Amino acid sequence: MSVLGAIIGDISGSTREFEREKLSGKDDVVLLPPNSFFTDDSVMTCAVGNTVRRWLALPGEEQTEERFKAALVTEMQTMGMLYPGRGYGRRFAGWLEDPDPTPYHSLGNGSAMRVSSVSFLARSREECEQLARWSAEVTHNHPEGVKGAVCTAALGFLARTEKDKSLLRAAAAEYYPELSDPSFTVAWLYDTYQFTEWCQHTVPQAVECFLEADSFAETIVNCIYIGGDCDTSAAIAGGIAEAYYGIPEELKNRAVEMLTRDDATGDLVSAVQGLYRENGSVS
Ligand SMILES: [Mg+2]
Repeated sequence: MSVLGAIIGDISGSTREFEREKLSGKDDVVLLPPNSFFTDDSVMTCAVGNTVRRWLALPGEEQTEERFKAALVTEMQTMGMLYPGRGYGRRFAGWLEDPDPTPYHSLGNGSAMRVSSVSFLARSREECEQLARWSAEVTHNHPEGVKGAVCTAALGFLARTEKDKSLLRAAAAEYYPELSDPSFTVAWLYDTYQFTEWCQHTVPQAVECFLEADSFAETIVNCIYIGGDCDTSAAIAGGIAEAYYGIPEELKNRAVEMLTRDDATGDLVSAVQGLYRENGSVS
């Protein structure tokens, strides 16, 4: 298991990302609607997943920060080139084409939306947080950009084994104290939340959508219901919800079908298959 939760969130939110009018109710949310499509969030999720998987297969002495970051930069640029025009932010699009790319102090939510594989592949919470930090730092070396990635990955890591949501809430509130405020709810976010691409205004909202849900599907529904940059918030919450609940087979199969339909080069599908191969759950 590892990246399909984020991909399902991304595809499901893709048709709503730029809608400023909110839906009138949760019943209006459709997961994986026929006209939806994968965006930058899925592409970069697969790039991080490929990098983490290959890095963890290296002999221990070669598992260095420098090696990880160099491989990640190459992989993100390669994947970005293979899938152009998928909604990359302006500065990130420039970074993708830069022959000598350097971090640009971003605090955007892109660091958190691409990190879900780390929750599943890391062998300890310490390793999880370290890989999440490194994965952010190649572009999002602002403290808020790093924090968003670390919180998302750590919560996904904990969600695999810890099925007590009050403990998960407490862990997430160490990064974002608003998560312990009883008035910070999906209902309140529906009334007040506005579009933002800032990490610190996307990750806690995505986490609340997960914490209040009773299933994987409801997590994604909540993210789209509150509005905003919902392909990204649903990608963030989708990875955490996958770690906690798993994904219903029907949704998993439809997501792979939609990816296959739109994946001209096949690189995204093979990234997903590579990440799931050990579990044999995606053929
Ligand atoms: Mg996107």
